[in-house]
Amino acid sequence: MASENVPDIEIYDTTLRDGTQGEGVTFSVADKLRIAERLDAFGVHYIEGGWPGSNPKDIEFFDQAKRRTFRRARLAAFGSTRRKDVRVEEDDQVRLLLEAGTPVVTIFGKTWLLHVLEVLQTSPEENLAMIADTVRHLKSHGKFVVYDAEHAFDGCKDDRAYALKTWQAAERAGADVVTLCDTYGGSLPAEILEITQYARAHLSGRLGIHTHDDIGLGVANALASLDAGVTHIQGTLNGYGERTGNCNLTSVMPILHFKCKRRSMSDESMAQLKELSQFLDETANLRPNARLPWVGAAAFSHKGGTHVNAVQKVIRSYEHIDPARIGNTRHVLISDLAGRSNIVMKARELGFDVTNATPELREMLARIKELEHQGYEFEAADGSLALLIRRALTHEPPPFIVDAYHVSVRREGHQSVCEAVVKVTVGQQSEHRVAEGDGPVNALDSALRAALIRYYRQLENVQLTDYKVRIIDSRSGTAARTRVLIESGDGRDEWGTVGVDDNIVEASLQALVDSLEYALVKDRVTTAAT
Ligand SMILES: [Zn+2]
Repeated sequence: MASENVPDIEIYDTTLRDGTQGEGVTFSVADKLRIAERLDAFGVHYIEGGWPGSNPKDIEFFDQAKRRTFRRARLAAFGSTRRKDVRVEEDDQVRLLLEAGTPVVTIFGKTWLLHVLEVLQTSPEENLAMIADTVRHLKSHGKFVVYDAEHAFDGCKDDRAYALKTWQAAERAGADVVTLCDTYGGSLPAEILEITQYARAHLSGRLGIHTHDDIGLGVANALASLDAGVTHIQGTLNGYGERTGNCNLTSVMPILHFKCKRRSMSDESMAQLKELSQFLDETANLRPNARLPWVGAAAFSHKGGTHVNAVQKVIRSYEHIDPARIGNTRHVLISDLAGRSNIVMKARELGFDVTNATPELREMLARIKELEHQGYEFEAADGSLALLIRRALTHEPPPFIVDAYHVSVRREGHQSVCEAVVKVTVGQQSEHRVAEGDGPVNALDSALRAALIRYYRQLENVQLTDYKVRIIDSRSGTAARTRVLIESGDGRDEWGTVGVDDNIVEASLQALVDSLEYALVKDRVTTAAT
């Protein structure tokens, strides 16, 4: 058997180059270096760092990268073939590729005659010379050369013989990998397979694939090419990239590993996949896509009574793989389809020791169903749900009770000022506080904290991180109701809480009180369970 170090399929990551073409994605040089280090630690085989000929930031990246050692991955600089009618030694863009100092250089060249004639405005022969000269030049400088055949599939559909000539020009000049690119991402898997087979029949070296997701087939197309002998896959983490994105490596890698049983990454790497995906979103400052296959927060969510019952009995019956193997977790959604099993699984997820036989379960279920009917939703409000379960299981009094409140708004010149008054009972003590704020919720929050801080210093660390309001459709002729969702954190944990009422201030207060109460009891949630 071949050594573990020789992969069956090579993963070529272009998140730092093609991925940064995506809307809303920008990385500083420091970001790019951190991402490159994470990719290396994860175990991808190539990291394409950027195009030194296109911007100074990428030149800076390669300069800094020279001072780092990458343990597993080989760094690649990306660029194009030499310009037409210029000697390759005199082409500045090619010179910058060599100066990047990477072991690998990837260049793209034209396959499609239409582009040769109308975009480059040169002859078919000169295009072949541009490809061959550039590859040969890079090889003479000791580089490992990846040749990216732009529009390989569209070009081939247009003129098979010429397309092949361009790929052969690269291979004969010494290219180590010839990568067929579906640049516009519009091909179908059957076309990808057929054209890759054609290339395989006429080329002898390693073949690669570079696909885009314009019609939702980025991953499928990359996989289709494997059957024709491709062993090098290019793509980006989380599918970042121009338009609808590149082939998503965050899907390709686990598919290869778990479904196709092709050797590419280790089990240990796979178990870090979710973390890597999250790290990238955080660095890019993008909200993670919950519906991303494999690594999304919803990828292993279960909703609906019977279904959850089955998951609880035989985990394998409703999951294609154990989520822990890619570092993801199972998540049970509470919905108005809720049955006993949902509540039990959710309660266990929240740390309560309950079973289907716990006597309080019936009461809990009835309460949740009633609240859901009123418009409460607990899917993003784990904090409120945990409190509800806790209240049903224990008979401890709450850490505080809001006896009364009053909120008023007045205008002073051009500014509106909100003032909140709260009366709170803590144990035997009663507190009465007034506070001002930017809005009613802010004023209430300040007044509540002012009343409670003497008793509970830990509330100093609690911050409200998000506040969402939704008007719920009016039901059975009553007035529209408002649902407020508050997200909070204390530097250690994050939780969501919910409130519903005809009045937005009342709904906000409910969510606010739950947020502070949860902060106070959350560490006792497990010990409190019976
Ligand atoms: Zn691309």
